[in-house]
Amino acid sequence: MTRYLFDNATIVTLDPEDHIYDRGQLAIEGETILSVGRAPDDFQPDERIDLGGRVVMPGLYNAHTHAAMTFARGYAEDLPLERWFNERIWRLESALTPEIVYWGTALAAVEMIRGGIVGFGDMYFHMDQVARVVEESGMRATLAWTVFGQGEEVGITVPETVDFVHHHNGAAGGRLRALFGPHSPYMCPDAFLARTAAVAYREGIGIHIHVAETPEQVKLAWDQYDMSPVELLGNRGLFETHTIVAHAIHVNEVDITTLANKQVHVVQCPSTYLRYAMGVAPVPEMLARGVNVALGTDGAGSSVALNMWREMRLAVLMQRQAHGDPTLMPGSLPLHMAAANGARALGFPQSGVLAPGNAADLIVIDTTAPHFQPLHDVIAGLVWCTEPADVRDVMVAGRWLMRDRNLLTLDEEAILSGFREALSEMLGRPLGQFRTYDVG
Ligand SMILES: [Zn+2]
Repeated sequence: MTRYLFDNATIVTLDPEDHIYDRGQLAIEGETILSVGRAPDDFQPDERIDLGGRVVMPGLYNAHTHAAMTFARGYAEDLPLERWFNERIWRLESALTPEIVYWGTALAAVEMIRGGIVGFGDMYFHMDQVARVVEESGMRATLAWTVFGQGEEVGITVPETVDFVHHHNGAAGGRLRALFGPHSPYMCPDAFLARTAAVAYREGIGIHIHVAETPEQVKLAWDQYDMSPVELLGNRGLFETHTIVAHAIHVNEVDITTLANKQVHVVQCPSTYLRYAMGVAPVPEMLARGVNVALGTDGAGSSVALNMWREMRLAVLMQRQAHGDPTLMPGSLPLHMAAANGARALGFPQSGVLAPGNAADLIVIDTTAPHFQPLHDVIAGLVWCTEPADVRDVMVAGRWLMRDRNLLTLDEEAILSGFREALSEMLGRPLGQFRTYDVG
């Protein structure tokens, strides 16, 4: 069991009281944080690390992504969502292979670790390949094998998804979690959603699903069911377990009440909403009602970057612009959303806050670069100035994933070449139509 002592650290705990320690100490024993602020007098570290005033803070959680989709970065630009799906993404995905999922996810893991992300919530296909990357990288992740509930699934049958979840949930020393991934109410048949909910409830399995991304999807649900999409999910039982909904952009007052009462976790992916002009979710209202709102990058096919610092800023900016109110989502709120709220949403409640007894999941930010100067306010600096390249070190469960910008669990060169090879193989395949997006 390795013991580390961080000394001379600006400790941004992101605990509920937002304690910040100037020139503080943080002691780590094995996988766990032993103390924050001052180390016990008799603490004997194996290594003492002088941070010289740099910031140590909780690692970030990318709570909704399709990590493998790094292969689609820049592939479908400047299109409305329907054409993005039908003409580009769902054609390219007809050529999907387990190899591109593995290498695309590995590339995503490199990008995420380099940007201070310690855990991610992934929804995709061939998720056994994603699990391999999680095991190898040392990251945390909550995986959902996406299924549509109509016709053939990708790489799995619907009954096999139960085995996938039981096999992976709690694996990799607890760093891996798994749950169901029915795609969305607009793609999955009604009866399939109800069956998924029933099995999830009975087997104690969580759910990760997309909902209410566009006004057209909302209209479709009203036309078909006389219910909003959120109401439909609640009515079919999908909120009777640990449920993560991605987006929930177009929701009404009743929906927000349902999300709050059912303790549904909501993930916002602002760069995708802005790039595809999808609308603005009532995030301040959800937060005020006690909904746990986390942040995600979505896949690189829609957001281009797996950059949580950008998502944090855009989450604030889009609300302020939409409401004409520069006081919205102030201070450390975006950091809490990107750290603890994401950790909670993904089922890692021992992460996302630097506190004794919590997991040693943390990042060190080098705030000495010119674009931080002068650092009048460390929280404002972290929210508004940090770029992925400012992340110097990343630790998960007491293990270094990156030190001094060097990746310690992944071979970046090998991943880049493996990715290129898998991509060119994929691009050489004939394209069909993987699915059709049609919400009327
Ligand atoms: Zn998504």
